[in-house]
Amino acid sequence: MSAPKFVALSDLAHRRLTVRDLLPLLPAMLISFAFNFGFVVALMLFNDNPTNASASKKVALDLELPTADPKSDQELDLKAPDLDPPMEATAERPGFEGGPMELERPAGLEPPPDATAPSGVGPDKNGGIRGTDADRGLPGMPGLPLEGGMPGFPGGEGAGPDGDFGFGRGGPGAKDNGGWGWRTKRGRVAQSEGASNESEQAVSLGLAWLALHQNPAGNWSLDKYHRGVAGCRCKDLVFEADVQSNDTAATGLGLLPFLAAGHTHQNGSHKRVVSTALNSLLSRQDAAGDPGGGMYATGLATIALCEAYGMSGDKRLRAAAQNAVRFIVKAQNPREGSWRYMPRYPDGDISVLGWQVMALRSGQMAGLEVDAKALDAATKYLDTCGMEGGSKYGYQPSSGPTQPMTAAALLSRQYLGWGQRNPGLIRGCDFLLQQPPPAKNSPVQKLGPLYYYYYASQVMHNMGDKYWETWNPPMRDFLIRTQEKDGHKAGSWDPDGADWGKEGGRIYSTSLAILTLEVYYRYLPLYRRGGTAREAPPNEMK
Ligand SMILES: [Zn+2]
Repeated sequence: MSAPKFVALSDLAHRRLTVRDLLPLLPAMLISFAFNFGFVVALMLFNDNPTNASASKKVALDLELPTADPKSDQELDLKAPDLDPPMEATAERPGFEGGPMELERPAGLEPPPDATAPSGVGPDKNGGIRGTDADRGLPGMPGLPLEGGMPGFPGGEGAGPDGDFGFGRGGPGAKDNGGWGWRTKRGRVAQSEGASNESEQAVSLGLAWLALHQNPAGNWSLDKYHRGVAGCRCKDLVFEADVQSNDTAATGLGLLPFLAAGHTHQNGSHKRVVSTALNSLLSRQDAAGDPGGGMYATGLATIALCEAYGMSGDKRLRAAAQNAVRFIVKAQNPREGSWRYMPRYPDGDISVLGWQVMALRSGQMAGLEVDAKALDAATKYLDTCGMEGGSKYGYQPSSGPTQPMTAAALLSRQYLGWGQRNPGLIRGCDFLLQQPPPAKNSPVQKLGPLYYYYYASQVMHNMGDKYWETWNPPMRDFLIRTQEKDGHKAGSWDPDGADWGKEGGRIYSTSLAILTLEVYYRYLPLYRRGGTAREAPPNEMK
C-alpha cells in the first residue's frame, strides 16, 4: 500500500467507495489531508527528541534492577521506599538508568533451554501445552521449551502461581473479571482458548525478536530499531524508508506483547525488558500525563502503563497510569465525544477512538478512576458512525462501512456495554466473517489487513462459539505461516504488504501479529466467563 502518512488510515474507510462517491467530498478531503499532514509533520518534529523529553519531565520508576548479573533478576528488590507517592512527587524522582541489554544471544532465538526446567507449559497432571515435541517445533529448534514453561508461568502449581502477581493487587476495586489474572495462567488458558504449540512458539520467538531490538535505554524505535544491534539487517531500507519516527508509539507497541504474555518488571523471564521500557515511557510523560507522540501513541502507552500497574500492583506506577488516563479523558473532543490525532481536535475518527477506549477500559481494569462521562460520550460518537443498527462502521460519520473500522468499533462496543446478543453486534460479526483470514491452503504470503485482524480477533474471541471457532484456526495458522523463520529477522513479521507497514515498519507489524496470537490469554473473553462490559461498580467510574 502506498499511502500518505497518518491520514492514510482513512483509506481503510474509503477503500470500498467509488470515485463517484468521493467527488463531492474532495474539497473537504483535501483540506483534511493538508491539516493532518501538518499535524503529522509537527508530531514527528516534536517527538523522537529524547533530549527534550528527558530535560523537561522526569517521572520515573525507580526499579533498582540489578545491573551486574542478569541472573539475579529473580531477586528483584521490591522494597521501594515510597509506595504510594502523591502525583506531584513523582516528578522529582530520578530516572532509572537501565543497564545494558543482553544482546549477545543468537539472532532471534530464545536462550538455550534450561535442562532442569520443566518441559513445556504445565506439568503433565495439569495438562498444559507441551512445547518439547521434536516434530512440532520450528525448524532447527526441536525440543525447545515454550517460554510459558519457564519459571513464573506455570501451567499449574509451581513457581509464581496465580495470585502471586494476580490482578487482585491492582488497587482498589481491581477485581474486574475482565482483568489480567489470566495472563498468569498463560499455558492453561492458551490451550483451552484455541492456541497451538506452534502459535505459542511463535509468540515466544516474537518476544525474543522484540527484546533483541529494544534500545538499551528501554525504548523501541519504529525507524531506527536496527541500529546498534550487532548483525541486524532486519530493516528493509527501501520499504521502510518512510517509517515514522515515534518512539512513544514504538515503545508502547514493543512493550504490550510482553505484558500480554504475563511478563512484568517483577515476574517472568523478561523483567529487564519490561522495566526499562516502563522507565522509558515514564520519562516521556509530561506534567499533564501525556506520554507524547500524538493520540495513537498516547493510547498505546497508556494501555501499557495501566496493564503494568494492574498486573503488578506496583504502586510506583499508579500515578503515571492514572495521569495518562486523565489526559485521555481531557483529550476527548467535548462536542463529538471522539478523539483525533492530537488532543481535543474535532473531526474525530473510529481508528483513534479504538485505542483510547481500550486505554480507558484498561484503566478501569486496573482500578483507576475513569470518568464515566467520557465513555458515554464515546458511545454517542460510535452511534454517529454506525450504520444498519450499529452493525457496520466507517472511519468517520460520513464514511462508508469497512471491516477494519467495524472491527475497531465493535470491540469498543463490547467494552462499552453491548451484550453478546446485541443484534447490531451479531450482524456486525457476520459482516466481519465476510472478510475472514486466509484459509489453510491459501497462497497468501503477505500480512495484508493486519490492523483488521488485530481487532477482529478480539471481537471474535469475546463472542466465542461459532464466531471464534470459525475465525481462530485460519487466523492463528496464517500468522504462524507468515512469521519470519530465518536469520536475524526470525521471530518478526514482514511489514511489506501489511496495512500501515510503510508507516509503522517491522516493530509495528511484529507487535500487532504477536498481540493477535496472544488473544487467548491477553484478556478474559467478555461473555463466556461471567463478564459484561460495564460491570465495574459505579464508584470506580467517577
Ligand atoms: Zn535485526
